[in-house]
This record gives sequence, structure tokens and C-alpha cells, in this order.
Amino acid sequence: MAGFLFYEVVFGPVRSRRLGLSLGVNLLPLESKFCSFNCIYCECGWTPSRRQAPVLPSRKEVAAFLEQRLRELITEDYLPDSITFAGNGEPTLHPDFAGIIEDTIALRNRLIPEAKVTVLSNSSMIHLPDVFEALKKVDNNILKLDVGSEQLFRLINNPVSGIDFSDMIERLKRFNGKVIIQSMFLRGTFHGKTIDNTTPSEVASWLSHLVAINPELVMIYPIARATPVHTLEIIKDSELELIADQVRRAGLRVQVVK
Ligand code: SF4
Repeated sequence: MAGFLFYEVVFGPVRSRRLGLSLGVNLLPLESKFCSFNCIYCECGWTPSRRQAPVLPSRKEVAAFLEQRLRELITEDYLPDSITFAGNGEPTLHPDFAGIIEDTIALRNRLIPEAKVTVLSNSSMIHLPDVFEALKKVDNNILKLDVGSEQLFRLINNPVSGIDFSDMIERLKRFNGKVIIQSMFLRGTFHGKTIDNTTPSEVASWLSHLVAINPELVMIYPIARATPVHTLEIIKDSELELIADQVRRAGLRVQVVK
């Protein structure tokens, strides 16, 4: 299954459930997915195995495409609320990610100072000092934490080998709260195993990690598009609200994305 893919480096703007009018930046290959995870709910489909390095846009190309599109939008008086790094996989895998963030912040300051710079990342590359420092500079540092346990991390997010769940949690704490956590809730079966991150014990474990990370905001959301595993259930808003209540009671800000 190909999934929902982006065919441009700079795309949109599109109305985002979370970010308002969002101009997307895709640092990944066009027409295929490149990610360090293989989430069973990924709207881009399964992560393909690769024999060759993917073709990624250069730092110079990203800056040129972004400046051109921002100038067009300024002429149309259609200014985005956010310049958002998302696209066909994990943006922090780009080897020039830190430089691209630097260029983007400079462009934003020069052309549309009101807009936010947002990164949607799966948290897998925050062990790299340049990625970590770059994420600290953006307005919306939105990092993924879907689960409370290593076991469910492997079942839901399917990371490449070498990514350790407890290390990732420790590194999330090092943002000292300058992080927004995004969490997808789902249940279903896959390869004969029951998968459910909404159980009381999983939610309690996830919540204990959140309290230690102390994010400025927690965004929780249900599946919104087709997923590569077809047995997954969309969690109802009412159930997400009950999870959100627990987050609030733990003293954290939370938003249920509908
Ligand atoms: S981290 Fe994001 S892009 Fe990567 S597999 Fe998961 S949902 Fe897809």
C-alpha cells in the first residue's frame, strides 16, 4: 500500500487539525517514505526497505523552494500560521536538518515573522546533538510518544534496531519542558497480537513518562486516515477525553485533536 504521500518539497498550505494554516516542508524523498519507524497506523503506508540511500532535497533547494512559496503567499495575502516540517517520514533523518532549521527561522523572521516554525518528529534522532539543539530553537517542537512500555513501542511504532525506548524517554526529559508530546491512541490486532494503548495500565505508564518529561502541551489524537493495518479501531472522542482528564489531573496541559 502506497499510503498518503507528498510529491513536493514545499506543499500547501493546508488547514491542519492542530496548527491552523500550515505550509508543509517535506525533507524526505518525493513519492516514497523514509522513516526510522514503521508505525502500524502510518498514513504514508509501510516503510519500504532500501538498498540505496534515498534522494533528499539539498539544504539550498529547501531554502530556495521555501522562499519562493512564501513570496507567492505574501503576494496572495495568504500567510500561513505555521511552516511545518512533516512529509514522507521522519524529517530529522535529513543530514542537514539543523542547517535547514537555521535557514527556515531566518526566512521566517525576514518574511513572515508572525508564523511559527513547527517540527513533527518521532523522537528517534534526538540523541544527535545538532538535531537536539535545532529542535530546541523551533516554536513547536512536537515529538511522538504513543506508548508507556517498550513492548508496545515495538508493536505499534516498529523502530529500526538500535532505538531504545528508555533512552528515548531520558532524552525527551532533557528538553526541560520545551517540547509538545503527540500521542496517537488506537486498538486492534496485528499478526495475531492484540494491540491497545488505551488500557488503564498502558495509560498509567505513558502518563508517568509524561509527568517526568513535563511537556508544555500533550496532543492526543485518533486515526484520521487509512492505515496499512486494516484492523485498527478509531478511538472515540469521548474515550480520548477521559484520557485527557487523567493528563489534566496530573497537572499537564492537553488537547484532544479532533
Ligand atoms: S513515525 Fe510518522 S512517518 Fe514514521 S512510520 Fe510512524 S507515523 Fe509514519
